[in-house]
Amino acid sequence: MTCIYQKRIEFISYIQRLLENTETSSTYKFALLHALADLCIESDISKKPKLKIEVDDLVERIFSLYWQHAKPFKIDSSETNDSKEIISRESILHQSTNKEPTVIKTIRTLKGRGGDNLTVAKKLNEKKWVELFNSAKKSIREGPLWRLQLIENNIVPFLYEHKKGKSYIQLNEGVADSFRFFHDIVVKLVRQGWADKIASIKSNQASLGKSGELADFLFGSKRVSLKYASELLEKIQGGYCFYCEKKIKGDAHVDHFIPLKKYNYDLAHNFVLAHKKCNQDKSSHLALKIFKDKWVAQNLEKYKDKISSKLSSRYMCDPERSRAVADTFYEIADKSNIPLWGDQKS
Ligand SMILES: [Zn+2]
Repeated sequence: MTCIYQKRIEFISYIQRLLENTETSSTYKFALLHALADLCIESDISKKPKLKIEVDDLVERIFSLYWQHAKPFKIDSSETNDSKEIISRESILHQSTNKEPTVIKTIRTLKGRGGDNLTVAKKLNEKKWVELFNSAKKSIREGPLWRLQLIENNIVPFLYEHKKGKSYIQLNEGVADSFRFFHDIVVKLVRQGWADKIASIKSNQASLGKSGELADFLFGSKRVSLKYASELLEKIQGGYCFYCEKKIKGDAHVDHFIPLKKYNYDLAHNFVLAHKKCNQDKSSHLALKIFKDKWVAQNLEKYKDKISSKLSSRYMCDPERSRAVADTFYEIADKSNIPLWGDQKS
């Protein structure tokens, strides 16, 4: 009998081997692993340890991850030449040494038709989106999904069985548990590998210059305008800070209740309004359990429908997903004795 700890050790060494295998031409491998880790966080695996993941969900997630990457990356060329003149250059970073991945091509088409983020772009192009999505899905299913587990030219199906043509993949026993347990580490390794891969592609090197801002651009938090969320939360919270409960004078900050560093999606029900200082102080920590209860009562109960109706045209809205993600991170924090943030007296 393999115990769960044994399985977790096997898992993390497998992930390391996958990421060390650098001969892949595109960055799909990283997007897939990131998406799998995130989907495991959102699922209840207590009853079904061999988690089934629909390919549709996986592909949708890959689109969210690549969305930011398909924006132009800006650098000041003063960093790269000797003249004092500052000329900003913009360029979309290549994600492959070969031909451009279908997902990036699709995103460029959608962006060309308007839309600041994926949620808005989908709404603006409903018909076109279905067509583009299906074509991207076909290409991911036929290629990256089966190449992911390729180690030195052999398929090593540690994560899931290699079955072509199915509309889902089923994770092997213990894999979803390990993705949840090691979510932070997997995401860190994947992002590092992804940024390194982009930096290693020759055609990107001129655009990157000496700029050290690549990882921040690819996975940073200043991506989507949170203005609309801020306006709604202002009303819901009556202008008071979610954490210290004092009136917000000056600038209010939209805080991701489950920090972006842990879970990199803008889910509308995950937003709360706070002082700049409270937000910065909380940073990438999980707040005390009393704040979780308060957040559930405010965003997932009392104002659940209001948030959905006001914000669903701007941001992803999925209260059940928000709840599942929060439950998972609090469960992990509890099991691993991770200290929570928030001094009740201040
Ligand atoms: Zn405050």
